[in-house]
Amino acid sequence: MDFSLTPEQDAFRQTVRAWLKANLPREWKDLGRSDIPRIETYEILRQWQRKLYDAGFIGLTWPKEYGGRGLTFMEELILQEEIALAKAPPILNVLGVGMAGPTIFAYGTEAQKKRYPPKILSCEEIWCQGYSEPNAGSDLASLQTRAVKDGEYWIINGQKVWTSFAQIADWMMLLARTDPNLPRHKGITYFLLDMKLPGITVKPLRHMTGDADFNEVFFDNVRVHASQVLGGVNQGWQVGITTLMYERLTLGFGLHMRLRIALDSLLELARRMEKSGRVLTHDPLVRQKLAQSWIDTECLRLTGARGITRLLRGEMPGPEASAGKMVWVETHQKLQELAMELEGPYAQLAKGSDWAVDGGAWQHAFLRSRANSIEGGTTEIQKNIIAERVLGLPKD
Ligand SMILES: Cc1cc2nc3c(=O)[nH]c(=O)nc-3n(C[C@H](O)[C@H](O)[C@H](O)COP(=O)(O)OP(=O)(O)OC[C@H]3O[C@@H](n4cnc5c(N)ncnc54)[C@H](O)[C@@H]3O)c2cc1C
Repeated sequence: MDFSLTPEQDAFRQTVRAWLKANLPREWKDLGRSDIPRIETYEILRQWQRKLYDAGFIGLTWPKEYGGRGLTFMEELILQEEIALAKAPPILNVLGVGMAGPTIFAYGTEAQKKRYPPKILSCEEIWCQGYSEPNAGSDLASLQTRAVKDGEYWIINGQKVWTSFAQIADWMMLLARTDPNLPRHKGITYFLLDMKLPGITVKPLRHMTGDADFNEVFFDNVRVHASQVLGGVNQGWQVGITTLMYERLTLGFGLHMRLRIALDSLLELARRMEKSGRVLTHDPLVRQKLAQSWIDTECLRLTGARGITRLLRGEMPGPEASAGKMVWVETHQKLQELAMELEGPYAQLAKGSDWAVDGGAWQHAFLRSRANSIEGGTTEIQKNIIAERVLGLPKD
């Protein structure tokens, strides 16, 4: 793949760099290092995404008529690289921009494509993903939330769980069973669900980090208009898988840019921490581990480039996005473990302690990183996908 830039693309890089320099939110500096939006930063991130939107630095590859810029994935790559270099904050509407928008472009009616994408980009409407249920996680096709037709409406009953951002979301990408008599994968429909509808109850769940940013969501006779179906009745499995491919691509490729921010911060940490009166960057074992972390991050960048190549050819993300997601998980978890190792005994001190390093930000990131190998499909499931769909091995 050729990543050399045209003069226009080089000029685009300079424009982005200058804009980021002038516009980074001042209050962000102390809050950096987190790759997933944290509750206390939601308002800053909402404003930040709005600012990116107003400047035309979000949705670069989305069609112009639906609020995007109609540029290529090369410009997107340049933008993400510059964001990483500037240590800029993440956006708030990650699931809307990374998953809902691309799926609506792939399967939406003209009315749906006009209605949703611009408000996703401007962060006026936050999206969440209603897939997992108490008895349907890895085995998503066993989902039991039911949608029953009643005239022009569908009546939804059931429960979702682990729904990130549901506590602030305006819309949900919902998978529900519309025909229990069809084979499991065939009787599912994908709905664009208004979270303000009567009959929806959201109950936050707390992670081990102390944050409560994923939820149980209950549906009690929720009436959804038939025009809210995306991609056709009983076609939801295919639509839902497209969203998952984009999720893995976003997690694997998008987050590797944020990994570079974390790696830079880790290097700074190693330069500051001492062991037996010696700065840690002089310790040969620490140096080897830092170098390995850099190598892993670079490998991830190149794996991501393969996904970009597909997109530049106008194809959808394929099963190799699973490899990107899996490598990102391993690299990020190892990086956070190394941060704990570098802190030594201080690793035991979290936010609230006067002696916590960097206000306990690393402790939070370390604990949060444990969920990376579960969310967006577990590592075991990614391995099954790679085995079956990339390597052509027999089915699990
Ligand atoms: C922080 C976080 C945020 C999340 N956000 C969302 C969200 O916004 N929306 C949403 O819908 N879901 C979300 N999830 C849910 C997530 O997608 C599921 O937890 C995940 O898919 C696993 O499902 P499960 O929890 O039911 O575990 P299970 O499927 O019960 O799996 C349990 C264990 O068995 C293993 N396993 C299962 N099947 C196989 C197999 N065939 N082969 C080998 N091993 C197997 C799994 O790898 C795992 O280790 C989130 C989860 C987390 C942790």
